Amino acid sequence: MVLRVAIIGSGPAGVYAVEALTRRGDVAVDVFDRSPCPFGLVRYGVAPDHEKIRSISAALGNVLDQSHVRFLGNVDVGSDISLAELRLFYDAVLFASGAATDRRLDVPGEDLLGSFSSTEFVAWYNGHPDAPLDTFTLDARSVAVVGMGNVAVDLGRLLAKTADELRHTDIGDHALSVLERSHVTDIHMIGRRGPVQAKFTTKELRELGEIANADVIVDEAELVLDEASEQLLATRPAAQRNLKVLRDWAAHLPSGRPRRLHLRFWQRPVEVLGATRVTGLRVEETRLDEAGNVVGTGRTATIDAQMVLRAAGYRGVPIAGLPFDDRAGIVPNAAGRVVGDGEPLLGLYVAGWIKRGPTGVIGTNKADARETVASLVEDAQLLPPAPNRDPEDVLRFLTQRDVRVVSWAGWQAIELAESQLGQQRGRARVRISERHELLRAASGAATL
Ligand SMILES: Cc1cc2nc3c(=O)[nH]c(=O)nc-3n(C[C@H](O)[C@H](O)[C@H](O)COP(=O)(O)OP(=O)(O)OC[C@H]3O[C@@H](n4cnc5c(N)ncnc54)[C@H](O)[C@@H]3O)c2cc1C
Repeated sequence: MVLRVAIIGSGPAGVYAVEALTRRGDVAVDVFDRSPCPFGLVRYGVAPDHEKIRSISAALGNVLDQSHVRFLGNVDVGSDISLAELRLFYDAVLFASGAATDRRLDVPGEDLLGSFSSTEFVAWYNGHPDAPLDTFTLDARSVAVVGMGNVAVDLGRLLAKTADELRHTDIGDHALSVLERSHVTDIHMIGRRGPVQAKFTTKELRELGEIANADVIVDEAELVLDEASEQLLATRPAAQRNLKVLRDWAAHLPSGRPRRLHLRFWQRPVEVLGATRVTGLRVEETRLDEAGNVVGTGRTATIDAQMVLRAAGYRGVPIAGLPFDDRAGIVPNAAGRVVGDGEPLLGLYVAGWIKRGPTGVIGTNKADARETVASLVEDAQLLPPAPNRDPEDVLRFLTQRDVRVVSWAGWQAIELAESQLGQQRGRARVRISERHELLRAASGAATL
């Protein structure tokens, strides 16, 4: 009997799970995504000027474009169809739904106007259909970006670049026109720890120095290492490379470019200032204690900022019907098998960020998904068969609910429409961002 599997999420983890499953042969896989478009954060996270990384979507697309695999876009599992309902149609359900929300700073003023999560900003510039187009105006002169990982570096870089430096990408019209009118001159990236502990990679860091219109400003005093950092440095070649780049920047005077990227270490935000709108960010200098924890020194300063972006990490969100580890922000699991009350829940699996948390690069999800699929395949004989085995049943069910499912052909029609829009603008491709526009582009090709 063909094993019928539903995968929730068409990001890297979901697609790599499809790849591993279809190697097994007698399977039929339906991949659900709440977005009309596939590929998760490869489309909606990776920055528009990182075209090479984004091109991974071509390889992911080849996996989804197989006869025994269907893409069911624009279906939100939870509101359009529940987990219990899904189990009427599938022998196994695998969640690869990512980590959709951000970690909070837990400081006063965090919710003032002008204070945003990186999730909001990234979704906006990448044209996610759930992100309102008019959220950002970039009339702030000075922006504080809290965080020192690659996402924070993406935000800093995109704010520092001119619209002309992004015009060759597929960035949506809404974002490009705001970037064209941007008032931002100063971007302060704030790290709670030092340069050795920072999580960015050297390649991403170096790119900050290649922005035509921006100087990178680093204070040499913040690069001085304590004993613990020296010890850590000795074991981390990547941190040694980063430190070299940072020391080079610290040794040079700014060349007077119109924008400035200030990289600040050993600072933690203690309050977002303002009455209704952000007017600044109060930070406290930090150091490491004997146990290696970050502690405040009591010395505070105010950073001029009319906009704050927090890039302090991502978090999974609970899924109705599945257990959730609130502390770790993941679904508890053993090798991808969902675990409830210490026991594996037969037929339910997780892969990717919702399984292990928001760590690693795109490729990390491959081994992760393979592990989960190995567990699923091992369980296959034990799984009670779903009662509704006709592949059309789930489509009829969704049609009755008035859900407009976007098929793989629908997605290909979206791709074509984005290329055509690009041609009209004299660009290779332009993103379509609004859901109704995406659905319009997909219509006519929406049969599964
Ligand atoms: C801003 C940012 C930039 C990044 N840049 C890079 C980079 O340059 N290079 C790199 O290697 N890695 C990068 N990463 C990391 C990489 O994107 C992740 O490792 C990877 O996307 C995680 O894969 P995933 O499949 O677990 O989750 P995701 O990619 O988030 O995919 C989850 C999918 O599930 C769908 N979904 C969620 N809930 C539901 C539901 N209820 N119903 C239906 N569908 C649902 C979502 O719409 C989404 O499509 C970046 C991450 C971020 C946040």
